[in-house]
Amino acid sequence: LVRSVNGGEIPEEESTGAWQEQVTSGRFAGQTVIVTGAASGIGRATASRIVREGGKVVAVDISEEKLEEFAKEAPEGSVIAVAADVTKQEDIDRVVSAAGERIDGLANIAGINDDFSPIHETSDEIWDRVIGINLTGVFKLTRAVVPAMLAAGKGSIVNITSEAGIRGNASGNAYTVSKHGVVGLTRSAAFMYAKQGIRVNAVAPGGVATGIPFPPNVSEVGSARLHPFQSAIPTLATAEQLAASITFLLSNDGVNINGAILPSDGGWSVQ
Ligand code: NAD
Repeated sequence: LVRSVNGGEIPEEESTGAWQEQVTSGRFAGQTVIVTGAASGIGRATASRIVREGGKVVAVDISEEKLEEFAKEAPEGSVIAVAADVTKQEDIDRVVSAAGERIDGLANIAGINDDFSPIHETSDEIWDRVIGINLTGVFKLTRAVVPAMLAAGKGSIVNITSEAGIRGNASGNAYTVSKHGVVGLTRSAAFMYAKQGIRVNAVAPGGVATGIPFPPNVSEVGSARLHPFQSAIPTLATAEQLAASITFLLSNDGVNINGAILPSDGGWSVQ
């Protein structure tokens, strides 16, 4: 038997045959997936898509009210809502125990982008808050779910970086650093756990129409680069379009993809 990267076993003599593909309609049927930032925007669209495809979602967000509103509309038993701050270990412990023994996937989507000050005007408070939520939160959630995935011999983690995680001129400083950090964490974890059947990938959105603010003006963040609004490529995506990219990597459709940073930006990053 050949062990595939997601922990499945394929008879060696058949491992290159196209007929061994398992095609199922609900890509998340029987699975439990933790989604952070699930109360709005990309996280909410991703959580709904997973539920529509047969999965159970542990929906995590700091905004309790919006989270309850989302969970209320979900089909019975499909969503476990856990109001939690991804920077707090005690909250993360509650998330993991709500998921139970089986954790098939983790989508680290919670994030903020509300500061565009230059480095010499960035306070410790701003730095710690942005890095804490966007990067340390991703590390803490990853650390918390890996033991269950190691025990199962499989698992899939998708992190959300950004165009600002690849380039230095797409957003504010602390945000840019946090999203570059997510790229490093993704690659490091992908390499570290590949043999144990855990895949770790990241999606890098360009501009997405959600509640999160955009840099007020490219010149204010020192960018000579075109902002997506001014670009030749119509890249303001919907949250649902991002959910399509995220669930592709999260599901078994992404079986052979590990450590990838997938731009989901309509082509903006090729400019
Ligand atoms: P959003 O503001 O609609 O959603 C972010 C969610 O994260 C919110 O529901 C918020 O309550 C939650 N959150 C914030 N701090 C939290 C914390 N400490 N603990 C738990 N939850 C917390 O924004 P979005 O556009 O859907 O953003 C989702 C992700 O996509 C973010 O990581 C963001 O950086 C990334 N992203 C967005 C864009 C874009 O253009 N919208 C572009 C690139 C990357």
